[in-house]
Amino acid sequence: MKYTDNESQAGEYLRLTLSLLSKLKLVANPMNYTVMYEYASGHNAELRQVVDKCLKKSKSITDEQIIEFYNKFIESKEQVLITKLLAGMNSILKEVSSHIIDVEGDFDGHGKKLGDLAVQINEVKDHNDIKDIVDLIVCETKELVISGKQLQERMKMTSEDLKVLNQELKKSQKEAQTDLLTGLINRRGLDLRLEAELKKAFSTKLPFSVIMADIDHFKRVNDTYGHLVGDSLLKGLSNLFKTKLKRGGDVAGRFGGEEFLFLLPATKLGDAKIVANKIKLAVSTKEWNFNDSGIKLSRMTISMGVAMYKTNESLQDFIDRADKALYQAKKNGRDLVITQEQL
Ligand code: GH3
Ligand code: MG
Ligand code: MG
Repeated sequence: MKYTDNESQAGEYLRLTLSLLSKLKLVANPMNYTVMYEYASGHNAELRQVVDKCLKKSKSITDEQIIEFYNKFIESKEQVLITKLLAGMNSILKEVSSHIIDVEGDFDGHGKKLGDLAVQINEVKDHNDIKDIVDLIVCETKELVISGKQLQERMKMTSEDLKVLNQELKKSQKEAQTDLLTGLINRRGLDLRLEAELKKAFSTKLPFSVIMADIDHFKRVNDTYGHLVGDSLLKGLSNLFKTKLKRGGDVAGRFGGEEFLFLLPATKLGDAKIVANKIKLAVSTKEWNFNDSGIKLSRMTISMGVAMYKTNESLQDFIDRADKALYQAKKNGRDLVITQEQL
């Protein structure tokens, strides 16, 4: 019989042969290999017929049957078949070796060694050489599996380390942007959110408003009751702000001292003014009792300046406008909301 398989076909037949051997629980000796390779390649129609018949009948092949088929259909072709097997092995080894080198990195040089064996296969002269090479392949493959497992372990550990590191990083980032006293985002957090919201407003073309707020006569609280009460008041006010900013994207931040900045994405100036007035009313109508000290504060008020972002202006100009409106609210007598339109 003339063999015309190319290298990759031979490799494919070899794979089929190996899978058949394992499925039929046949020992991988040269005779079994040869019979099953010949069967898998489909070149030998007579052999194929009898093996198929046998498999149909009992789903297995005995050693005696293999010997019988070998003697009857193959013996004379052994040398040709060995050449085909070697070509198949060469093709698989080359493929495996380049996969290891290209994709996984050639850990411990196994990829190169298997590549070298693929070359050696082409130079095989007799059966003894084949046995040596097969022994070497088995040995390399075993070591490759061990190295691969070790690498997998190392990668698993590294990826777990990275996960923990990432969580810690996120936690510390959050901490760095949170005000310790009030739990609101701090000035650094506000700056980052402002940048992000401005970009969003630019791309979505949605309005974006801010409210700059400052507690009226806060110094008097400190002077009258002490800083601790002042601190408690700042905490209480912050909680109140959170309850008044109900929309998902709204942000309340501590701009500094007793000044606060509220970010209202997708909000027009008029709507931001409504929100500001709600906050103003809530502050001025709340009774400020400090249970632990028994202190009851007189009415507190807050002044606010409202501005809406104008396309292409700088962040600084935008915030300055809200600040000017706040200054105007203080100047006009406090407990007031002033918008950029009233400047
Ligand atoms: P105005 O109505 O003009 O805003 O008067 P004000 O007294 O609120 O303004 P001023 O800027 O004179 O005083 C703000 C005070 O807020 C001074 C500062 O000590 C106090 N303050 C700033 N941060 C804190 C804080 O974290 N805790 C306490 N207890 N006080 C603070
Ligand atoms: Mg102030
Ligand atoms: Mg103040």
